[in-house]
Amino acid sequence: MNGPMKCLGTLALALVLAADVRAATPWVVVSIKPLHSLAAGVMAGVAEPEVLLKGGGSLHAYALRPSEANALSRADMVFWVGPALETFMERPLAALAGKARVVAVIALPGVKVLPSREGGLWEDAHLKDNGEASHQSNGVDGHIWLDPGNAAAIVGGMAEALAAFDQPNAVRYRQNAAAMSAKLNALDVELRAKLAPVKEKPFVVFHDAYQYFEASYGLRAVGSITLSPDRAPGAGRVGEVKRKIAGLGPVCVFSEPQFQPKIVQMLIRGTTARTGMLDPEGTTLKAGAELHFDVARALADSLVACLTAGP
Ligand SMILES: [Zn+2]
Repeated sequence: MNGPMKCLGTLALALVLAADVRAATPWVVVSIKPLHSLAAGVMAGVAEPEVLLKGGGSLHAYALRPSEANALSRADMVFWVGPALETFMERPLAALAGKARVVAVIALPGVKVLPSREGGLWEDAHLKDNGEASHQSNGVDGHIWLDPGNAAAIVGGMAEALAAFDQPNAVRYRQNAAAMSAKLNALDVELRAKLAPVKEKPFVVFHDAYQYFEASYGLRAVGSITLSPDRAPGAGRVGEVKRKIAGLGPVCVFSEPQFQPKIVQMLIRGTTARTGMLDPEGTTLKAGAELHFDVARALADSLVACLTAGP
């Protein structure tokens, strides 16, 4: 065999080997960073799952980019919360039918589901401009990963789904899940102690994403405000929001990374509320097995810092 032919032979062999590796372990795609983090922990030492929504911004009214739809079409297995959260995935997943194993983690055994809060003080940030629900649909609150018991149940369910698909690595998935559960337990103990001093201190949020976290740690969100993340509200709306904040008397008003700080400052001017930032989906954090823990610690740190600051 001459030089180029030999090269081609080597390349062909490498491709066969690569194909074997792919066939042996499932190609796993996960919808959002918090779930991807849990999947990455369960798959540690076997393979890296791929996260679909890598960047910032919000899940609300999301539409898949062609590259993301492409990633989804290559998957052997897909983990997502379910139609209560990633509404934008319903149609692409239906198109995958039969080609990939799709697991909606909201339906896994042991996952506790809360109804979404509606009306009164809870403005629905989960509506598209046309008023159609974009996530948190069917009266179900999809932000399930912020309950520590749910995170452990998700890890266990992911391990079983992976073990059924990829039996040679079943032991590894289950061991990883057990290690993750222990780590989640330790995190829960840590957060319980950290958040105890701010229990019952009233706060307002820009997006009703924290119900599971509040219920787990005895926190007291008193209302939410709906705003467009990138458009400044008109004078009438500013007045309305200011009156609402004054009426609720929160210690803090928490924004999220997608909102411009200028808008938040304008809304609290003249009230006694302080401002803080929460990032429930880890949009500003690095994806990976540690992200879930980083998200939870950052939420606790922001809550404590703002709710206990100065006079
Ligand atoms: Zn949300």
